[in-house]
Amino acid sequence: MTIAIYPGSFDPITNGHLDIATRAAKLFEKLIIGVYDMPTKNLLFTTEERIDLIRQAIVNLPNIEVEAYNGLTIDFAKKVKAQALVRGLRMSADFEREFDMAMMNKKLFPELELVCLMSTLKYQFLSSTLLKEVAGLGGNIDEFVPKHVAEALRKKTMSRL
Ligand code: ADP
Repeated sequence: MTIAIYPGSFDPITNGHLDIATRAAKLFEKLIIGVYDMPTKNLLFTTEERIDLIRQAIVNLPNIEVEAYNGLTIDFAKKVKAQALVRGLRMSADFEREFDMAMMNKKLFPELELVCLMSTLKYQFLSSTLLKEVAGLGGNIDEFVPKHVAEALRKKTMSRL
């Protein structure tokens, strides 16, 4: 069975992430979205909340699963027996960082193949960080996230005011 992982913070999942996941799910028999438990980022949502938001977003995509992980991404890949690691590439900021991470991962686990999918044009400038900032300032984010995520963002940012 061809298995790929799609790792990230997903704080929260956006339509940009979903676009990459949906396209990757057509290339592999199983895609596992790996939710990084403790990234070195300030998180708005807990791991359980991030997983729950992803679960609701993928109910109609039967070959996508979601799982939390800690530690090295390559160890997660080994644990779930993945042959490939999927990442989304945006024009602006992703390439250099992805390149460095890819080189390191290749050293640590040469058998794991990296598959980068180019972000769709309309999501090129969408990031969870920007989304949280706009939502926090009361901006409309409906076209960038599924309905339930917009709702969760509104609730979360309101409770922080
Ligand atoms: P990380 O903390 O690993 O950067 P993110 O949740 O920010 O995790 O992103 C996970 C993956 O999704 C990364 O490969 C990132 O480049 C990609 N990604 C994020 N936003 C978009 C987008 N708008 N379009 C395509 N890919 C995206």
